[in-house]
Amino acid sequence: MQMDILIFLKPWYYFIMKNTGKCLCGAVGFTVAVCDTKSGACHCDMCRKWVGGPYMATNCGTDVTFTSEENITRYDSSDWGARGFCNKCGTSLFYYLKPKSEYHMPVGLFDNQDEFVFDHQIFIDEKPDYYDFANDTSKMTGAELFAEAMKE
Ligand SMILES: [Zn+2]
Ligand SMILES: [Zn+2]
Repeated sequence: MQMDILIFLKPWYYFIMKNTGKCLCGAVGFTVAVCDTKSGACHCDMCRKWVGGPYMATNCGTDVTFTSEENITRYDSSDWGARGFCNKCGTSLFYYLKPKSEYHMPVGLFDNQDEFVFDHQIFIDEKPDYYDFANDTSKMTGAELFAEAMKE
């Protein structure tokens, strides 16, 4: 019975909104025109190495404006992805998906975090055993994610 209520409450639609944010030191600010309120966590080895834990982010599409390019260092982490960080304070700013030119921004950087819903977890097969989120989310392995991406 409790499960039914959870499924009922789980949003089957999603909001998009304009949002702003900045890094820890404030050298890099940004505005996103479209911010998916359905956020997710990536448990892959690379993300956990990069931010020190699961990477909690939201897809902000292609329309992201930064206040300062000179304080952003972009690190090419794979053939399809790059990661940006503030070169003054080290804040992880975005995961950039090259084939789609999409910015996946950490939810923790945004000025308005009230609308976010924790919706999905990816690379669940690479999640270490020492933590588990209690949130009711969808879960995908890395292989499932790549299969999904190939369909598009
Ligand atoms: Zn900074
Ligand atoms: Zn990842």
